[in-house]
Amino acid sequence: MRQFGVATQKREELVDITSQVAQALAESGLAEGAVLVYSPHTTAGLTINEGADPDVKRDMLAHLASLVPQRAGFRHAEGNSDAHIKTSLVGPSQLVPVTGGRMGLGTWQKIYLCEFDGPRRRTVLVQTLAAGEGA
Ligand code: ZN
Repeated sequence: MRQFGVATQKREELVDITSQVAQALAESGLAEGAVLVYSPHTTAGLTINEGADPDVKRDMLAHLASLVPQRAGFRHAEGNSDAHIKTSLVGPSQLVPVTGGRMGLGTWQKIYLCEFDGPRRRTVLVQTLAAGEGA
């Protein structure tokens, strides 16, 4: 397994980590299989979505904030229940197929670390999974 760090800059932001994942994949030497990308955090998750128009990132964060307001009478004393809920909504991991040593991402797709309670130093785990015989 490989890992890399991400220093987030804001309380909420989507950070494009596609190149770091691609580098970890290249270092692994995997040709056929899949790459599992995992966030070992309770207030930061991972998603895959459009990387061309930055308004998509803004709209996603704004709409998640409207779905889960930061202050909504939560009981959790840390005051970051919205971040925990948003992290569960996006999920902690993404699994991307690999062929010919490259991720099968679509033209417009980027892998994002979703920071919901930054700024913080985050860690992303990358595990390559080799395809079995006949794949
Ligand atoms: Zn908390």
